[in-house]
Amino acid sequence: MEHKQILSLHKVSKRYGPIQALKSVSFNVPEGSVFGVLGPNGSGKTTLLGIIMDVLKPNAGTYKWFGLEPHADLRKRIGTLLETPNFYHYYSAVRNLQINAAIKGRGHDDIERVLKITELWERKDSKFSTFSLGMKQRLAIANALLGRPEVLLLDEPTNGLDPAGIAEIRELIRNLGQEGTTVIMASHLLDEVEKVCTHVAILKKGDLVAAGHVDEVLANEDMLEVSAANL
Ligand code: ATP
Repeated sequence: MEHKQILSLHKVSKRYGPIQALKSVSFNVPEGSVFGVLGPNGSGKTTLLGIIMDVLKPNAGTYKWFGLEPHADLRKRIGTLLETPNFYHYYSAVRNLQINAAIKGRGHDDIERVLKITELWERKDSKFSTFSLGMKQRLAIANALLGRPEVLLLDEPTNGLDPAGIAEIRELIRNLGQEGTTVIMASHLLDEVEKVCTHVAILKKGDLVAAGHVDEVLANEDMLEVSAANL
C-alpha cells in the first residue's frame, strides 16, 4: 500500500565547524507510523530534530513536511515535546492545559480530548505536584497534542522516568500510533524502538545506517550488531 509521506529528508547534511553532525541523510516518514530515530549520544538525533523544526539550517539537502516546502504555517500541524513544558505545580492538570492552550492561542475545546487520550481525565482536577513521573510526562504529551497536530515529535520521551512511567509512556505512544497520529521520536534505546516503533532510522556518527520497517531493519543481524554495539 502506498502511504502519504509526512516527512521526507533528502541528502540533509549539517556541519558544526569541523564536526560533520549529519552526512547526507535521506529517509521518509510514512503517515500513521511511529518512527524512531535511533542512535547513541552524538549520532546526530538532536541536530536532525533541530533541522526539521527549522531551528537549525542544514548546510546541504532539503526536507518537506506533508510534501510541502517548509513554511511557518506548517508549524500548526506539528506537535512537539522537545523539552519539558513549564507546568505550575500547585495548579490542576486541567488548569495547566488551559494556561498553555491560551499561550499557544489554541481553543479550550480539545482539552477534554487530550486528557482522555492520555488517560488523565479522572485526575484532571488534581494538582500537578501530586502526579507521578509518568503522569507528568503524559500531561506534557497531552499539552503537545493540543490543537490536533497531525504529527507528534518527541525527543527521548522516557528519559528520566521510573519503570512504571516508562511503561505508561510506551503504551501511550503505541496507542497514539494505532489511532492514526504519526509519531517521530528520537531514542538511544534499541529495546524501546523495538517495543514502540513501526519504523526506524538508525544514525551512527551522522551517517544513516538503515531506515525502514522496524521488523525488517532490526531483523538484519548485521544491523542489530551495529546498533547494539553502539547503544
Ligand atoms: P545526544 O543524545 O547526546 O544529544 P545526539 O544523537 O542528539 O546526541 P547531536 O546532539 O545532534 O547528537 O550531536 C551530533 C554531533 O554534533 C556531536 O558530535 C556533537 O558534539 C556535535 N554538536 C552538536 N551541537 C553542536 C554545536 N552547537 N556546536 C558544535 N558541535 C555540536
